[in-house]
Parts: sequence; C-alpha cells; structure tokens
Amino acid sequence: MAKIVPRPQLTFWEQVYFVEIFKGLTVTIAHAVRNLTGITKFPTLNYPEEAPNLPRDYRARHRLMKRPDGTPRCVACFMCSTACPARCINIIAEESPDKHIEKRPVRFEIDLLLCVFCGYCVEACPCDAIRMDTREGVMAGDNRAEFIINKETMMDWKPKDYPAADLQSQKAPGGSLHAEALEAFKSGTYH
Ligand code: SF4
Ligand code: SF4
Repeated sequence: MAKIVPRPQLTFWEQVYFVEIFKGLTVTIAHAVRNLTGITKFPTLNYPEEAPNLPRDYRARHRLMKRPDGTPRCVACFMCSTACPARCINIIAEESPDKHIEKRPVRFEIDLLLCVFCGYCVEACPCDAIRMDTREGVMAGDNRAEFIINKETMMDWKPKDYPAADLQSQKAPGGSLHAEALEAFKSGTYH
C-alpha cells in the first residue's frame, strides 16, 4: 500500500524565502571565511604530487595473496570471475603440481578500466586469495593496456607494507610470521 508523505507546513518567514536565503548565505560565507583564514587546515591535497592517505578498507587496486613459498593462494576456482558484474577478470588455469591443490592460475588478469571496484571478487573468493587493500586508489596511464594488471603485478607487494595484525600477509615471504608458516607449509598443516 502506498504511504502518503505529508507536505511540510511552511511558516510565514519560510514562505517569504528571503530569510531562508540569508540563513543559507550565512553558512556559506562562514565556511568561506573559515577556510580562507585557516589555509593550513584546508582539507585539500597538493595532488598529484601528494598522494591521498587512503584507509586500509578502501576498495583499491587488487593484489593476490601469497603462500609461504611465494606461490599464489589462488586455486583458479573462477568464483571471483563468476561473481564479477563487469566481467573483467580473466583467468587461465592449469593443473597444480602440489597434490593438495587441484589447480593454479597460469594467467590472472583484471581490466581496471572495466572494473567497478565493487569488491564482489574479494567476497566470493573461498580462500582469501584476492584483496583490494593496497590503498592504490589513484591510477593513471596513457594507454588502455596499462590498466590491465596481471598476476605478477598483483603479487608484487611486501608484507612490511601491511599491518602486523594482518596475519595472512605476514605469512608471505619476508613477513614476520613467514618462518613458522613455511615450516607448517612444508609439513602439510598450513592453511
Ligand atoms: S571489484 Fe567488482 S568489478 Fe572489479 S574485478 Fe572485483 S568483482 Fe569485478
Ligand atoms: S582469486 Fe579466489 S575466487 Fe578467484 S579464482 Fe582464485 S581462488 Fe578462486
């Protein structure tokens, strides 16, 4: 059933408009004066020389997570590319030599010009193999090919650039938990 939304009852001064316009202008002018007199607190960046400090949960450029031996955690299950509404993930799979893993990606590409940065691929991944926490939200290039990122680009990250509390990142080569993770990996108890 349709819901009837009552029209607001305007007072006499609201119907005159001039008072409301003056109140609006007062707010605008107050902001302008505050910004012009406190220029150092002005919330702008000297872009592009200055990069924005994006929060870690900002949906930025993708990365592929790594196992302790440096190989991708991805098992080429295609769940991310199936969930992707922009159809911009291209995966070519091959058989994995590891008997615990059925497949691995021989090629993994994302066309960032088609990507809508919805994060569905991250949500769909069953093994935490793809993330969008690189904080690389500003991308520039002078040809379309530069925006197609491949497996090597997505695996080019270092654990030191990620928080210590991000255990999965710290288990990758170079991370604070790498030694014990590699031991567990070799013994077959790593997840
Ligand atoms: S963020 Fe969305 S559009 Fe981009 S690759 Fe992932 S699922 Fe596709
Ligand atoms: S990134 Fe995750 S969802 Fe996508 S193919 Fe690899 S394992 Fe599957």
